[in-house]
Amino acid sequence: MKAIAERKPGRTKLVYDKTRRTIVAVAEGAQTPRALNITADDADMFAVVTLSSRWFREQWHQITRDRMVSSLFNFWDEGDAFTQCCLGAQASSSIIQGAVLLGHGTTPPDGTQLCVLLSPVEDSRSDPSTFTAPDGSAHRAVAWRTVNNADEAVTAVFADVQPELATRRSCILETTVLSDKSVLCIGLGTGGAHAAIELAKCGVGRFTLVDQDRLSVGNVARHPGGISQVGRFKVNVVRDLIHEKNPDAQVLTYPIKLTYENRETLKQLIAQASVVICGTDNRPSKLLVNQLCVEANVVAVYGGAFRRAYGGQILRVRPKRSPCHECFVAAMPEEASDVEVSSASDANDIAYSDQPVAVEPGLSLDVLPIANMLTKLALLELLADKPTSLSVLNRDFDAPWYLWLNRPEPGTQYANWPPLSESSDEMTINRWYGIYFERDAACPVCGDFISTIAASYGLDLASLGTLPSSPTKD
Ligand SMILES: [Zn+2]
Repeated sequence: MKAIAERKPGRTKLVYDKTRRTIVAVAEGAQTPRALNITADDADMFAVVTLSSRWFREQWHQITRDRMVSSLFNFWDEGDAFTQCCLGAQASSSIIQGAVLLGHGTTPPDGTQLCVLLSPVEDSRSDPSTFTAPDGSAHRAVAWRTVNNADEAVTAVFADVQPELATRRSCILETTVLSDKSVLCIGLGTGGAHAAIELAKCGVGRFTLVDQDRLSVGNVARHPGGISQVGRFKVNVVRDLIHEKNPDAQVLTYPIKLTYENRETLKQLIAQASVVICGTDNRPSKLLVNQLCVEANVVAVYGGAFRRAYGGQILRVRPKRSPCHECFVAAMPEEASDVEVSSASDANDIAYSDQPVAVEPGLSLDVLPIANMLTKLALLELLADKPTSLSVLNRDFDAPWYLWLNRPEPGTQYANWPPLSESSDEMTINRWYGIYFERDAACPVCGDFISTIAASYGLDLASLGTLPSSPTKD
């Protein structure tokens, strides 16, 4: 290694010698490469096959009975990596046939391109190539692929997905704390999709996704879905992304419009939800969701970016305990209407003239702080009945309305906010503000509309006979 460190630029180069399975330094003009003491194992030069521990446990009876079980593998990066297809939802464009063999003496079927051979060992401790079977026996896996009639070694690694994912959340979110929770995500634009995927990473076990839109090329600049997913319904794109993060999550998809006609379906979905995340961009859909969530007594979190994502806001509605979205619109009509238009269907919804309304540009970078906060508020609601180390945040996130600015947008009420670095006690950009406001006593959704109006006119309700308790559109 000292020789490499001291070498003069351009005099030698490192080359992997496949035959000798080692890295060699080749000097300019030299006939014979000089071998270095670096093996392929050290340099991670072999291809890797990742095997599902769960699949091996489930197939163990058949493996021991037949001594050979076939399995499909994703083929990645020209044969540099293989993953057992049952590990994740998204497949490679190329799938190959593999076989798991128990002990020597079994022949894989014709056409097998990747073999995994299990041999018994005494000790399974801290060896990623070793599998502990349901009967307690340990087996070390050795793998190879056949290329041009020659065998090439492949490093075998077992993945026990759920326990390994849980280690990264340990002491913050324990393994099963969110597995029985159900999140209803209404609107899967950048914010809603991001929130759903983040909650899947936290270990949320059940999702219901509602959005009528298909992913467009323009969406890809901000949406977690990629170019190869264009044309698919966003609910299906996000379902697959959720499964990439939590393969055991149950995901229901509803590519339906958020209109009054679908009220009954929405009602049923809301009734089954632990929390609702509403990321739609237009007021009628938010108010419909608001009315249904207040009626069902389900907490809803509404997130939205302002025009061109210069900032954003979140409203958390705890029915009858905090102001609802209708109260918000009544109290702050300007703030409630300052939303960006990020999807073609939303643009069409508010295009009252023949002139189409353009979809607003805005950076993903500026939407994600709002989506992250939306996710955190939803997470706290999911954890409301479970003591976790995140419970300390309930003190900090006590307000109903949260405001964030990415920049002091000219022409807005925030244009003259002081610079970030000069402000310690004034409002400024890139900080969250929790803001309190009161419920509207006359709110037609969460207040006592009739009594309040009657009182304002000095009327005695008892003398007026029976009146509907709230206005309806039926
Ligand atoms: Zn209200």
